[in-house]
Amino acid sequence: MSHEITFIPGDGTGPELAEATRRVLEATGVEFSWDEHPAGVDVYEDEGNPFPDRTLDSIRRTGVGIKGPTTTPVGSGFRSVNVLLRKELDLYACIRPCKAYEGVRTRFPETDIVIVRENTEDLYAGIEFEMGSEDNAKLRVFLADELDSPVREDAGISIKPISEFGSERIVEAAFAYAAENGRTKVTAAHKANIMKHTDGLFLDVARRVAERHPEIEFEDRIIDNLCNQLVSRPEEYDVIVLPNLYGDIVSDLGAGMIGGLGLAPGGNIGTEAAMFEATHGSAPKYKGQNKVNPTALMLSGVLMLRHLDEKDAADRMESAIAEVIRRGEKTTYDMKPTRDDPSAVGTSEFADAVIEEMNQ
Ligand code: NAD
Repeated sequence: MSHEITFIPGDGTGPELAEATRRVLEATGVEFSWDEHPAGVDVYEDEGNPFPDRTLDSIRRTGVGIKGPTTTPVGSGFRSVNVLLRKELDLYACIRPCKAYEGVRTRFPETDIVIVRENTEDLYAGIEFEMGSEDNAKLRVFLADELDSPVREDAGISIKPISEFGSERIVEAAFAYAAENGRTKVTAAHKANIMKHTDGLFLDVARRVAERHPEIEFEDRIIDNLCNQLVSRPEEYDVIVLPNLYGDIVSDLGAGMIGGLGLAPGGNIGTEAAMFEATHGSAPKYKGQNKVNPTALMLSGVLMLRHLDEKDAADRMESAIAEVIRRGEKTTYDMKPTRDDPSAVGTSEFADAVIEEMNQ
């Protein structure tokens, strides 16, 4: 059976990474039919919209997409394609495995964790009141007069909504991922000791959900303690579920622990669709140089194969990537001892090496 996939090359280094990934996915022998559509700054310059309707319609139809990174220019009124995608398709669960493959330069070789980040709520809900604005003033009057909670006149205000609904579905997603992928423990991270009605709610819901899954161990950690323990005893962690902001930060911590952004994959999963993409951005300064590391997007492709129930192809592709990294000969500049190491290969040569390894 051929899988129809929405293919979004993105911009900056995105198209090079996406093409390298597509070649490796095709080399697994799984059949794909690619419905290719643009997103990002290039199509914005051509059409005035960074995320054309035809791209969104395609994902709605196919239900599965893979995407190269897209640039979000600062201060242009340009809305982030990634935020739009997550909102439009309610991609509420961001799954980011962080595994340190043998051969990678890292101080944390024991790392093998999966971060499950809530994608729609928390301080990222976009409910913000600018210092000095009329709405900010109205809110401050309400807080002071009605709720006896005064806020300084010169404060900006961001609201942090965390719901039972949002918490329940993300914690359920973490347990489902653990069960489907042979993982044995879920840790919920929070700051419930300080934010009792948001993080406290998240923790209460997490405990309730955990009772429904007695076969998987459950524990919770205060977020600062989690960060401390992750870099001292990473081997003690397995699946970690977090509200949006902590999830964002711990994802980059995890990426650093496994050898850098070039290695950190991700999947954004919702009820209607799933979109697979690297944790990193478009690295625009390397655009067109056939230089950056496609591993993160390729491993996102591995996640996509698992999502499509192509487990055997996923295992073969992951093993081939791991073997090329272990040998260390045909890897990109970021995986070498120094950034100007002359033995570094380019994006497409790394893909060639993975394909060769898979074909053996
Ligand atoms: P970035 O992740 O693009 O790059 C930061 C640095 O990390 C690069 O300069 C490079 O040194 C390194 N790096 C990143 N990816 C790499 C790879 N595959 N191989 C080797 N090294 C790699 O972060 P940034 O510069 O802050 O963001 C650039 C643009 O990307 C911004 O517009 C940002 O909004 C956007 N962005 C997009 C996504 C996405 O599409 N999902 C995610 C994050 C950032």
